[in-house]
Amino acid sequence: MEKKVRVRFAPSPTGPLHIGGVRTALYNYLFARQHGGTMILRIEDTDSQRFVPGAEEYIMESLKWCGIEIDEGVGIGGPHAPYRQSERREIYLKYATQLVEAGWAYYAFDSAEELDALRKEYESRGETFAYNYAVRGRLATSLALPAEEVKARIERGDQWVIRFRMPENEVVKMHDLIRGDVEVNTSTLDDKVLYKSADALPTYHLANIVDDRLMEVSHVIRGEEWLPSLPLHYLLYRAFGWTDSQPEFAHLPLLLKPTGGGKLSKRDGDKMGFPVFPLFWKSPATGETAHGYREDGYFPEAFINMLALLGWNPGTEQELFTMQELIEGFSLDRVSKSGARFQPDKAKWFNAQYMHRKSDAELAALYQPVLREHGIEVSDAVAGKAAGIMKERATFTTDLWDLTSFFFVAPEQYEEKQAKKYWKGDNPRILKEVREVLASIDDFSLENTERIVHAWIEEKGYPMGQVMNTLRLALVGAGKGPGMYDVTAFIGKEECLKRIDNLFERLTPAA
Ligand code: GLU
Repeated sequence: MEKKVRVRFAPSPTGPLHIGGVRTALYNYLFARQHGGTMILRIEDTDSQRFVPGAEEYIMESLKWCGIEIDEGVGIGGPHAPYRQSERREIYLKYATQLVEAGWAYYAFDSAEELDALRKEYESRGETFAYNYAVRGRLATSLALPAEEVKARIERGDQWVIRFRMPENEVVKMHDLIRGDVEVNTSTLDDKVLYKSADALPTYHLANIVDDRLMEVSHVIRGEEWLPSLPLHYLLYRAFGWTDSQPEFAHLPLLLKPTGGGKLSKRDGDKMGFPVFPLFWKSPATGETAHGYREDGYFPEAFINMLALLGWNPGTEQELFTMQELIEGFSLDRVSKSGARFQPDKAKWFNAQYMHRKSDAELAALYQPVLREHGIEVSDAVAGKAAGIMKERATFTTDLWDLTSFFFVAPEQYEEKQAKKYWKGDNPRILKEVREVLASIDDFSLENTERIVHAWIEEKGYPMGQVMNTLRLALVGAGKGPGMYDVTAFIGKEECLKRIDNLFERLTPAA
């Protein structure tokens, strides 16, 4: 029987969630949904030094905005609650001591100062200090000290940590669903701390393995930065005797800077003007702020679509995917091993694509708040229609006012270049005639007005471009906008005539 798919997104609340983290959550979610599995949200907050207030709420809100649904976890509950590691603290000591008893781990009593001194001493000799097989037998550890002393030190409340006893010179063979087989010699690895008496908390490695086991996680899908921890995690499964239920692993490629070299950072975003976080963030400690896709006007669907393709390739030319299509099409086999370069223009391109596909009703919902800010009160139908006519030229909702304001307010000023070019010669006289023609039309629909005015211009033999641009100057005040009859139909006959009169009143034509 195939094992039940249970995946987890396990962020540490150390600041705003980077878009790389959102992509990790997304791939977990797609994988879970595709396999009818369970998506777990676990908060890994055992490092109290790096805890940032508000970060957990930020993570939850980001996932919600993106449409990444959690089945089990913080904020929802589930059969393995609690899902916040700081609330599971009693669980871990038992497992750490179990490893000590089995000989897979040991107590170490070195103080931070002693370790610092050792580091410096090694450095002065041009070497790097590593806590490993070479030194653990002669430092203040339960491997070096007599058993009574170890007991006495613990009983009198000396601070200790439990370290993993990394085997010497053993090749650990691992398998990654994206990278294939990976091998590491344990002599290159140090004895990682698993548990600290100082705060009675496990470190990431121990808590992560224990919780994945207890929460019956089947697949660990996480960022590439955790690949170096994989040998230790393999060995922890072995040390606990849990290899039978060990999850499968998939390490996702990094998101790279637009220039290609190195990991995408907030600095890159600040420099080039794009967000690297899903939502706006204000640091509670420093007050420093960071842009977010949501507040910068991106649609969540566009943001998710873009992220999905940063590292995964569908194997076809298709670029636009709904969440449902992503769920159906996603596969870890098509996640690349190499880093995915972030392209800010592509993010905008995706947003524009989603803008162009919005219905008038959706556009109305987006545009009404902007219109109200400008003091415009219109029906949803009118708001949606205006936005609908111009959506092909918009990337963000905020572009819409610039593109459509003339539908709602008559020009007060006239663009100089346009006025100079057209408000002269025969054009004012012809515009007067156009006014008469427009005034005589009863059915002011787009098609009817276009038919009548066109036929009239042709009959008169007037230059079409001149006439239309002069009319545009009157109705729009500038050389921009959609087709002229989109404007006449939208604003209606009365308003057309009024705007033409305005032009005559406000601007004296050049000879
Ligand atoms: N807490 C780790 C992080 O912040 C989780 C890594 C993992 O998924 O194992 O990314």
